[in-house]
Amino acid sequence: MKFQPKASHFINGEYVEDTNGAPIDVIFPATGEIIARLHSATAEVVEQALNSAKMAQNEWAALSGTERGRVLRRAADVMRERNRELSILETHDTGKPLQETLVADATSGADALEYFGGLAASLTGEHIPLGGGDFVYTIREALGVCVGIGAWNYPTQIACWKGAPALACGNAMVFKPSETTPLSALKVAEILIEAGAPKGIYNVVQGYGDVGASLVTDPRVAKVSLTGSVPTGRKVYAAAAADMKHVTMELGGKSPMIVFDDADIENAVSGAILGNFYSSGQVCSNGTRVFVQKGIKDQFLARLSERLAAAKIGDPLDESVNFGPMVSENQMNIALGYVEKGKAEGARLVYGGDRIEGGGFYMQPTVFADVTDDMTIAREEIFGPVMSVLDFDTEAEVLARANDNEFGLAAGVFTNDLTRAHRIVAGFEAGTCYINTYNLAPVEAPFGGSKMSGVGRENSKLAINHFSEMKTVYVSMNDVEAPY
Ligand code: NDP
Repeated sequence: MKFQPKASHFINGEYVEDTNGAPIDVIFPATGEIIARLHSATAEVVEQALNSAKMAQNEWAALSGTERGRVLRRAADVMRERNRELSILETHDTGKPLQETLVADATSGADALEYFGGLAASLTGEHIPLGGGDFVYTIREALGVCVGIGAWNYPTQIACWKGAPALACGNAMVFKPSETTPLSALKVAEILIEAGAPKGIYNVVQGYGDVGASLVTDPRVAKVSLTGSVPTGRKVYAAAAADMKHVTMELGGKSPMIVFDDADIENAVSGAILGNFYSSGQVCSNGTRVFVQKGIKDQFLARLSERLAAAKIGDPLDESVNFGPMVSENQMNIALGYVEKGKAEGARLVYGGDRIEGGGFYMQPTVFADVTDDMTIAREEIFGPVMSVLDFDTEAEVLARANDNEFGLAAGVFTNDLTRAHRIVAGFEAGTCYINTYNLAPVEAPFGGSKMSGVGRENSKLAINHFSEMKTVYVSMNDVEAPY
């Protein structure tokens, strides 16, 4: 098999196999071909991983931040040097076009390693002067063993977005990729070792949800960071709460994108394309409810259809292809099921809507117009290339409708009226907002959701607070005053 790794798991600096675990077949979504066979972690493998993380963590935390940061920055360099090889692997694992993986996956993973590697040396507590010469100082401490659990849409990026801040703070990590895309996290683990990371600080175990659940409930684990759906988030958050574990939850969305009639239409159409069809629509922050002001609706839809007709759909390994298959047959069927619901509930199909026959899990980029707020396709996360276009008249009306949803991951507005743009984002109930663009997530900026879309933030300096905690030390320079 083309992409068979040395073994399924990576623990204590080495590949580890246990064929007693349930088999995991890795499928190239463009052809349906099996490219690797791995095994889910048995209880023994999970034990080995947690044990090695626990054993390695203290020593790692005792290094200076500069030393830890150096390892992460070296790993970033290695990832960039191997970008093409890693991108080809990611394309086979996910089906995403090489045109995308070359610029969005190992590169954004490397950005996270470089950014948090750079921060590691400056992570400190503070000195707080008090009356009478007393003072407090705070010590920023690692949490201990952190568990990362990933979704299948950005496997390399998620492995690094969780691993880099965790390691920068002096934690050790056990990472469980989605069983749909298990290959690239193993490469991240290998590269960290090559960059000089001590054995055991970044371990990868494969498995289905039950493996994730056994990691979350283990008493050695201090923190769980999940990227996944809301139902999984609920379960993992509840399980972590039993032991008061720290959590970061990066969950789903049904984000609004508002296009006012004074917007630059070409930019708005570009934003809607990026925010609905990049990675075949399998992006959590996608702006899948596109509210278009009535005066420009026809123009917007016409231009959108023209631009979609220029999408090049095909073999994701062909670098000129910019729209690939969905990650799995199951995910494709879920998205096609929503297309049927959209039609049945009276939305007007203006583009696509069909499976593309000929092998692989391909469906057309799909646009519905005349969608109303109560339709299923406007309420539920589809996680596929299905855009809903809704009409609106006024600013107040559209803001209320945009917020009328349980999710709050992202939101965007296209307008040339600056004051209106800021008024709208001030009113958005969302963690990540965009003005006149959509879906950019640089490592320097906090990323995460409000409402049901999650808890905590990834990236930026804020991520440090989610992977460390403060110890407060009160120092008295005076006698102790007791009442009796
Ligand atoms: P799932 O919620 O199905 O799975 C996420 C991960 O959790 C997988 O590794 C899964 O393992 C694991 N898991 C499942 N059940 C449990 C459990 N009880 N305890 C511990 N772990 C468990 O999500 P998908 O992989 O289908 O990813 C799609 C979802 O992820 C979408 O809702 C999307 O919006 C969200 N997402 C959010 C992002 C964000 O940053 N906010 C980014 C990307 C995606 P297994 O796969 O083996 O079941």
